[in-house]
Amino acid sequence: MGKNNLKFNSKTIHGGQEPDKAYGAVMPPIYQTSTYAQTAPGVHNGYEYSRSANPTRTALEKSLASIENGNYGLVFGSGIAAIDAVIKLLSPGDEVISTSDLYGGSYRLFKQVYEKFGIIFHFVDMSNTSTIENYINSNTKLIWVETPTNPMMNIIDIAAAGKIAKKHNIPLAVDNTFATPYLQTPLDLGADIVMHSATKYLGGHSDVVMGALIVNNKDLADKLYFIQKASGAICGPMDSFLVLRGIKTLHVRMQRHCENGKAIANYLANHPKVEKVFWPGFDTHPNYNIAKSQMKGFGGMLSFIPKGADYNEAIEIIKKLEVFTLAESLGGVESLAGHPASMTHASMPKKEREKNGIVDSLIRLSVGIEDENDLIDDLKQAIG
Ligand SMILES: *Cc1c(COP(=O)(O)O)cnc(C)c1O
Repeated sequence: MGKNNLKFNSKTIHGGQEPDKAYGAVMPPIYQTSTYAQTAPGVHNGYEYSRSANPTRTALEKSLASIENGNYGLVFGSGIAAIDAVIKLLSPGDEVISTSDLYGGSYRLFKQVYEKFGIIFHFVDMSNTSTIENYINSNTKLIWVETPTNPMMNIIDIAAAGKIAKKHNIPLAVDNTFATPYLQTPLDLGADIVMHSATKYLGGHSDVVMGALIVNNKDLADKLYFIQKASGAICGPMDSFLVLRGIKTLHVRMQRHCENGKAIANYLANHPKVEKVFWPGFDTHPNYNIAKSQMKGFGGMLSFIPKGADYNEAIEIIKKLEVFTLAESLGGVESLAGHPASMTHASMPKKEREKNGIVDSLIRLSVGIEDENDLIDDLKQAIG
């Protein structure tokens, strides 16, 4: 049957991989080298300088392309560096329509770095995708979607956004960090670019910072490869190795993240001291049907508001947690708790935050793969 038609759980392990050509190493060696011997100027085995390409990085890029059902993968020194490469496809005067409730660092990059280069960003509530069309004009050159959104867990209909993008001939990029290709593959739904913070679920062990892009179109891939090489925001071979290793257990970890996420979401929803829980697996979630149709499960990310709590009381609850670690980031094997208003979304003005529902008492959980009862007991003692 070959390795091309494997199912997802096999592709995480074998997709795009082959034993190393030098000694048959089953795991790609960490090619910790900046340069490669040439037999004559310009005559080499495909590698000349590690900013342009490195064999360990290539192995990871092929794995990523395989699991996202894409043709080309590219990795960068961070998720933000991957987004930065996409925005560098644009020119002054170009306009971007972006999800309003998005990762704080993406918002910061758009507003504080790229606006001054003359790129215009529209932050739009895309829970109803038809709203996107109100912002399209002849300068619109990119639609940026994040789903589920961070931290409000809103769901955006990728296929519907893809149809709008196609109709107007505008590329659609999807930040797939929260869902991972285990839960959804945006290229199959009409996206042109998939972006990841591989720091999160793909790496999965909170030990590396990395970003990735996956595309199908050769011309787009070439433009992005050019930016990767010309701007140089690459990652090293050791980090490439770590993320490749992480991907090999992605499906097993995600299965448990989903199970634990569901158990915690239900526990919190029934807790008398919890006001509201944001998790796309509740049938009361406004876009539950879209989540159910475009995702294979609901993931391990959720947010909640403790009843009657203010900024400080929310922080007190987080500080009491013992199994959940108070930390930025998400998607690792260990459970983390965060306070978006003072942490991930501090770079978003309070007014903008509250417009998106990110109130001061919101607590975000990245549910890990520990025993679910330990996680529930921890929340029990912290919430009281
Ligand atoms: C973390 C994150 C990013 C940024 O990635 P880094 O690896 O931290 O640069 C982008 N989007 C989402 C949804 C994230 O969670």
